[in-house]
Amino acid sequence: MSASSVIAKRLDGVTESATLKLNALVQSMRARGEDIVNLTAGEPDFPPPEEAKAAVRKALDENKNKYTPVAGIPELRERIAKKTNNQQPNAVAKFGEWKAADVVVSNGGKQAIFNTLMSLLNPGDEVIIVSPYWLSYPEMVKLSGGTPVIIEGKAEKKFKASADDIRKVLTPKTKVLILNSPSNPTGTTYTREEFTAIGNFLAKEAPGVWVISDEIYDRILFEKTEFVSFLDAAPELRNRTVTVNGLSKAAAMTGWRIGWTVAPPELTQALLTLQGQSTSGISSLVQYAGIAALDLAEEKFAEMVSAFKRRRRMALEILAKAEKLKVVPPEGAFYVFLGVEAFVKAGEDSMQLSETLIREAKVAVVPGTPFGAPNWVRMSIATDDDTLRKGCERLVEYFRAH
Ligand code: PLP
Repeated sequence: MSASSVIAKRLDGVTESATLKLNALVQSMRARGEDIVNLTAGEPDFPPPEEAKAAVRKALDENKNKYTPVAGIPELRERIAKKTNNQQPNAVAKFGEWKAADVVVSNGGKQAIFNTLMSLLNPGDEVIIVSPYWLSYPEMVKLSGGTPVIIEGKAEKKFKASADDIRKVLTPKTKVLILNSPSNPTGTTYTREEFTAIGNFLAKEAPGVWVISDEIYDRILFEKTEFVSFLDAAPELRNRTVTVNGLSKAAAMTGWRIGWTVAPPELTQALLTLQGQSTSGISSLVQYAGIAALDLAEEKFAEMVSAFKRRRRMALEILAKAEKLKVVPPEGAFYVFLGVEAFVKAGEDSMQLSETLIREAKVAVVPGTPFGAPNWVRMSIATDDDTLRKGCERLVEYFRAH
C-alpha cells in the first residue's frame, strides 16, 4: 500500500515546514567547517525570567504534578483575564470585564489558534488571511476543513488590509478573519483607527464573521509605545472576537508552551470540549511559571525590548546600503522582511534564493514563499549584535555584487 493511501485525506495539501531542507543544508555546511550566520530564529535569544524558573522549581518541590483543569489553573486564568482587561479598557467599559472563565490556556498560541479554527469551521467555510501571513494559518485552516482566502498585502500599504480589501473577498461562506499585529513576518502593526474601521465594517456588513486577533508579539514594539488590542479599537465585536496571546515571544518562553484564548462563553465551551478530548490542560508545572511571568512588571522586559530596538536600527542602517533590496522597516516583532525580487532568477522564487544565500553569502534567512510572499525573505534580529552585524554585512555584500 502506498503511503498516500494510508494517510488520512485531511492531510492532503497540508504542507510541512518548508525550512527543514534549508536547516539541513545549514547543518551540513557547518559540519564541513563553514561559518554560516543563522538569521532564521523565530524566538527571542533571551533567557526566560528568573521568577518563572523559580516558580517551576517550587511547583516541582511541592509536587504540583497532577492533572490540572483543562482550561488551566484558576490563578493563571485570572492573571490572563486581568492582562486582557488592561489591554482592552474600551471593551471593558462597554461590556464588562473578561473573567477567568473566559480563558482557555493551551499549548502555545499555536494550539489556541488551531483549537479556535477547529471549533468554528464547517467544511467549506472561508477564512480571510492577509499575506504575508504566519505560515501556519492557512495550513491550520485546511486541517480544520476550511478554505483559506488570501488578501494580498502590498508593501506600499505596509502589508495591511483595509475594510475595502476585506469587502472584496467577503462571501456568504466567510466565517473568520485572522488579524496579526504586530505581524510575523512583516513586523507591521495596525493603528487604532485602522482596527476601528475594520471593526465598524464587520459590525455593519459581515454579521456572521468572527475575528481571531493574534496578539502574540504585543510587547515587542519599536517606534510606537502603545499596543492596540483589536477589541479595544472595535469593542462592538466583543461577542465574536477571539483574542489569542501567550508568553512565547513577549516573555521569551517559547519552549514552555503557554498560550491562550480569551473568547465569548459559547466558543470557550467548545474549546474546552475539544481540548478536553484531545490534549487536556497544559503541563501543570509551567502554569506556575506562567503566573510568575504575568506578575512581572513591564520593566523586567525592558532590556530585551531595547536590545531588539537597537538591533533593528543597526540592521536597517546596514541593509540600506544594498540599493536594490526593498526593506519595509518593522514596527514590532523581531524580524526584518526583505524584498528580494531584484535578485530572484526567472522561474525561481525566494526558496531557491535562500539556498543560494546560504551557499554563497553564508547567511541563512527564511524564504517568504511559505508566508505567501515568494519574492521576500524574513531575517530575524533575535540574535546577538555581532552575529547580526556580520549577517547583515554579508547580505549587503552579496546583494551589491548581484
Ligand atoms: N502567532 C504568530 C504570529 C507566531 O509567529 C507564532 C510563533 O511563531 C505563534 C502565533 C505561536 O506561538 P507559540 O505557539 O509558540 O505560542
